[in-house]
Amino acid sequence: MKKAVTDEIKQLKAQTNAIILAHYYAPAEAQAVADYVGDSYYLAKVAKGTAADTVVFCGVGFMGESVKILNPDKTVLMPDPTADCPMAHMVDVKRIEAMRETYPDLAVVCYINSTAALKCHSDVCVTSSNAIRIVKELPNQNIFFIPDQNLGRFVAEQLPEKNIILNDGYCPIHAAISAERIKALKTAHPKAEVLAHPECRPEILALSDRIGSTAEILTFAKESDARELIICTEDGVSYALERQNPNKTFYYVTEDAPCTDMKRNTPERILHALKTGDGRVEIDEDTRQKAMRPLERMLELAK
Ligand code: 13P
Ligand code: SF4
Repeated sequence: MKKAVTDEIKQLKAQTNAIILAHYYAPAEAQAVADYVGDSYYLAKVAKGTAADTVVFCGVGFMGESVKILNPDKTVLMPDPTADCPMAHMVDVKRIEAMRETYPDLAVVCYINSTAALKCHSDVCVTSSNAIRIVKELPNQNIFFIPDQNLGRFVAEQLPEKNIILNDGYCPIHAAISAERIKALKTAHPKAEVLAHPECRPEILALSDRIGSTAEILTFAKESDARELIICTEDGVSYALERQNPNKTFYYVTEDAPCTDMKRNTPERILHALKTGDGRVEIDEDTRQKAMRPLERMLELAK
């Protein structure tokens, strides 16, 4: 990364009382200039408690929206406002309404990877690091888990006492991970441990030793006695994994097909956002109020 760009980012951050948040899937250069790097849950908590006036969020649309929903008085900037998560749109409101008619006690549990408009129709949000805990706590027997079928199925397997109805959304990046590739890596590195994100398909999870959010994958890697690890999630986590575990070897399975939306958060775009205020996240007040309820309930239940 050009030093001049980094220096200017630092200077503008101080001048505007801004902080930079970056998801683990953002480019390494964005993670390097960020004040906080983490998974969706951690970043939502940081955003809620910050004293900064401006938050630059190196992530995708639903993440910037969540920060704005929780902090209406702050300026929230997305370095590239076109960075979007395709899964965030993969549920039909009509289906949610039909499900509510079928099950009067239904709780609509919304993975945070969803648009603000969809959060408005939900009872509680979850992230991959708190979904099991929160669904377990809910008094409702019938749960409609949106939009991700793979995280929903993973949660359902851990909580057989609940009737969890799955939607058909999925993350294209995690869904593309090939079981053959993992088997080949396991054959080549028989001592390697496999760590996977719950957005992976069930056949990938079945090949994995441990399953968790991006932050949990980092914890598992640190705790593991294995010297070699196969990482089944977007390979942006390599930046933190390799810095935290210099003596371990990691094998990645998405390097040919990264999350291109996350990779739009380049240092040049961060600088542009800080300089111009472009990429400002705006949400109408009615949507914000409705979408805030499930997000705040998540923060409360996950405490
Ligand atoms: P985390 O909950 O691990 O941050 O995952 C977010 C995400 O987009 C995974 O694809
Ligand atoms: Fe969305 Fe998948 Fe990218 Fe995560 S990795 S932001 S779920 S497309």
